[in-house]
Amino acid sequence: MAKVVKFGGSSLASAEQFKKVGDIIRADKDRRYVVPSAPGKRYKEDTKVTDMLYGCYALAEKDMDFSNELSAIRERYEEIISGLNLKLSLDREFDAIAKNFTDKAGSDYAASRGEYLNGIVMAEYLGFEFIDAASVIFFDDEGAFDADKTNNILGSRLSECENAVIPGFYGSYCDGRVKTFSRGGSDVTGSIVAKAVKADVYENWTDVSGFLIADPRIIDNPQGIDTITYKELRELSYMGASVLHEDAIFPVRKEGIPINIRNTNMPEDNGTWIVGSTCQKSRYVITGIAGKKGFCAINIEKDMMNSEIGFGRKVLQVFEENDISFEHVPSGIDTMTVFVHQDEFADKEQKVVAGINRSCSPDSIDIESDLALIAVVGRGMKSARGTAGRIFSALAHSKINVKMIDQGSSELNIIIGVTNDDFEDAIKAIYDIFVLTRL
Ligand code: ASP
Repeated sequence: MAKVVKFGGSSLASAEQFKKVGDIIRADKDRRYVVPSAPGKRYKEDTKVTDMLYGCYALAEKDMDFSNELSAIRERYEEIISGLNLKLSLDREFDAIAKNFTDKAGSDYAASRGEYLNGIVMAEYLGFEFIDAASVIFFDDEGAFDADKTNNILGSRLSECENAVIPGFYGSYCDGRVKTFSRGGSDVTGSIVAKAVKADVYENWTDVSGFLIADPRIIDNPQGIDTITYKELRELSYMGASVLHEDAIFPVRKEGIPINIRNTNMPEDNGTWIVGSTCQKSRYVITGIAGKKGFCAINIEKDMMNSEIGFGRKVLQVFEENDISFEHVPSGIDTMTVFVHQDEFADKEQKVVAGINRSCSPDSIDIESDLALIAVVGRGMKSARGTAGRIFSALAHSKINVKMIDQGSSELNIIIGVTNDDFEDAIKAIYDIFVLTRL
């Protein structure tokens, strides 16, 4: 049995946090492969080591003195090393980093040192082997993650080790140059490692006890989610719910390896299980609610639109030509509405309108801005009657005007458009009806 355990930055921000992590790993001998992030914030105003590294390298790039900034980074590690009573010197590492910064090794290299150094400290602390991610995780020349090469090399390398620490967030190009994933990418590394060792579970340890049904900035103390499917999670994270990097589900999803989100500060909590499919009913009809503000709706009207073959294609082509992606396209008999991100659309608005006029000759085009989209997601919706009705009566009770409704064909989600101003109240109304009152 093998478990891959990834620890986020806040779980590794200090020696005290490292000790909690050590206890968690030692409590279960199946926790054999460890993927650490760089040290995160120790308190609210603190700076993550990754951000310190970006800042430090920005000076190096301008040929400015960066020694104070590099010393401040080093102090973060020394504090951890001495707090853990380790006899570990990072002299050689920091000499190499200073030299490579001066030689302008690149900001990816710079940022990756946060995980690299933390991996060395972690391996020493646990007595596990350290494996540099640059030697086992690969990107192709275009910078795309090379899944096959990585899986082969990483898989065979790890088959030789009983235990190992593999730093998160980075890998290398064919020529050896370091490349990072996007921010938060240690989650992705954890998933890649889990796939390579065919882990039984990928535990992702962070500072919350899993996913919440709704955003705690909007709902006071929202309930947690026990089990969520990959598909549900995709829908929610696309709509802004965050805990896990978006790309982290892909490597494990195909292999059917579950992800368990856990809290380093409350290890006894079960957290959230992310699974392929489950017979476990979610506690409520809905699994989660998420949403985003800042959309525009372009309403296009034309008599007999319905019978004009190719109308929709021509409209969407105008958006494509202007490099704007669309979110939803609800349509009626003589109307079609295209939802887009306001910030992508604002500058190109008149070009798009002119383009639609030219290619489709509509009767009218009307643009509405400052709209929000809310996704109500749940595998339970398929078999529950009246879900949409409940949502809309709750919204009506809260005097919220619904601008758009779109039920995905998978019956996994219902998307609702409201004004930005109604966004928070709409989420509260939906949460109340499904979770608090359970009508
Ligand atoms: N340390 C990196 C970041 O701050 C990667 C990670 O934590 O996953 O984005």
